[in-house]
Amino acid sequence: MAQVQRMSRLMVKTLRDDPADAETLSHKLLVRAGYVRRTSAGIWTWLPLGKKVLENVARVVREEMDAIGGQEVLLPALLPREPYDASGRWDEYGDLLFRVKDRKGADYLLGPTHEEIFTQIVKDQCSSYKDLPVILYQIQTKYRDEARPRSGVLRGREFQMKDSYSFDTTDEGLVESYGLHREAYQKIFARLGLDYRIVSAVSGAMGGSASEEFLAPAAAGEDTFVDCPACDYAANTEAVTFALTPVEGVEHGPVEELDTPDTPTIETLAEHLGVPASATLKNLLVKVDGEIVAVGVPGDREVDLGKLGEHLAPAVVELVTAEDFVGRADLVRGYVGPQGLDKVRYIADPRVAPGTAWITGANKADKHARNVVCGRDFEVDDYLDVVVVEEGDPCPACGTGLKMDRAIEIGHIFQLGRKYADTFQLDVLGQNGKPVRVTMGSYGIGVSRAVAALAEQSADSQGLCWPREVAPADVHVVAAGKALQTELALDVSEKLGAAGVRVLVDDRAGVSPGVKFTDSELIGVPQILVAGRRSAEGVLELKDRRTGEREELTVAEAIARLTA
Ligand code: ATP
Ligand code: MG
Repeated sequence: MAQVQRMSRLMVKTLRDDPADAETLSHKLLVRAGYVRRTSAGIWTWLPLGKKVLENVARVVREEMDAIGGQEVLLPALLPREPYDASGRWDEYGDLLFRVKDRKGADYLLGPTHEEIFTQIVKDQCSSYKDLPVILYQIQTKYRDEARPRSGVLRGREFQMKDSYSFDTTDEGLVESYGLHREAYQKIFARLGLDYRIVSAVSGAMGGSASEEFLAPAAAGEDTFVDCPACDYAANTEAVTFALTPVEGVEHGPVEELDTPDTPTIETLAEHLGVPASATLKNLLVKVDGEIVAVGVPGDREVDLGKLGEHLAPAVVELVTAEDFVGRADLVRGYVGPQGLDKVRYIADPRVAPGTAWITGANKADKHARNVVCGRDFEVDDYLDVVVVEEGDPCPACGTGLKMDRAIEIGHIFQLGRKYADTFQLDVLGQNGKPVRVTMGSYGIGVSRAVAALAEQSADSQGLCWPREVAPADVHVVAAGKALQTELALDVSEKLGAAGVRVLVDDRAGVSPGVKFTDSELIGVPQILVAGRRSAEGVLELKDRRTGEREELTVAEAIARLTA
């Protein structure tokens, strides 16, 4: 027996107009179709239809997490400060963290993610290698004071996340737990009907090694990723790597100094010399933990400071200021070239490969140098991928020009390693009686965000259009209006419910058929069954919400079709 929801009694108020502040399709439609209402900036109430979809997503996630042996727990959202002090995240999170005080003035936080607490729980519960591996998960409310909570439930300040954590005694064990999650995620997103790509990611503030993101391509997405049109390579823009290919067998002339007055920028230099910016070598000076370092990239490329920071972490990367040049005769601002930088560490993009020749600063005011050859006239201390990726850059896997697309991050899997285990001294007794440090993985799915991502990917100009697994009902029965039609609609609804089909039935009196049809399109249940013109004969019309295909069926045929 499945539920029959009668719209005459259901709290659902649809809106004809988009909410004024809504920019994205999912935001507009979820509000208009009566699924969610804004309570405050980035804080949302889930109304009955919305709660059903949210629960359906959570159910699929739960089933697949259980299938890989995950054990569901529920941790508090209100957490003490101390564990987050121990990990450093009380400070690292900065303004993103919701901090609260209790009546005694003690500090608490609203959990943005729970690595610290899970580590403590496993330390309390598991003492031997026999207790591991273990996978724990929860589906719970998370809090992040996002700078720009927009796009409705896509980016909330309060949101639902499935977070899980794996605990293993060996690195191989961690790889296995990670693999289990990866497969579970593939099943989850396939069942939800989401189009997604798996991309390698940088692990950011979490610290750790292997990390992949699950991205749902959508115009409303806030993530840009690169997608290879020819092979299955896809990556976060920050994770794209460019191969270092030395250039051999090309003879270059000697270094030649050029008079280049008033050309402190690449644009002015390229114009003055009549060369493309790509022929020049740009040397950006930065401070790494207070020490000046030069970063060389082709003149037509931008340095991605975020990427540079990722590579050099935990060192702090800052831009240089005028003061840093005081007493540094070797650094001529605007005219720096690597051939004169003996006292400065030189980091370069792999495009500045051994054997390539460049026009670059001559380390003298108003002068540049031509034919400055990498490996002959200067050495690169470290090659790092630090340029901003651009459309058309070669695919690291097959060389085809890459495409850039927008996407929504719906899931993220990390091999965290021993970072948190070190902080909390999480050891278990090993097989040989000696303590073993535990290694961890951390895995998230944005459950409420997945609802918005699904709405983004499946909606059309008429409204929402849910895949059946997540839809608030399997069929939307619409009674066109007359008493006889309502009677038939309720009768078929009851029979469908008895047969295990989840039904939403529009039995509202005094609402025109036109409004009901518009609402059914907006609400987006995948099948619409109309008791209309031929109700007296017991014939209904079944319409596929997505394709618009219609078919006339008797009650018995409709039940057979919908239970198939
Ligand atoms: P983002 O880059 O979008 O801010 P994140 O990388 O900080 O996300 P994680 O810490 O990886 O997020 O959290 C796990 C998952 O939780 C994300 O993959 C995403 O699906 C979801 N999520 C994160 N922040 C939000 C939010 N503000 N609202 C809704 N879902 C979120
Ligand atoms: Mg993430």
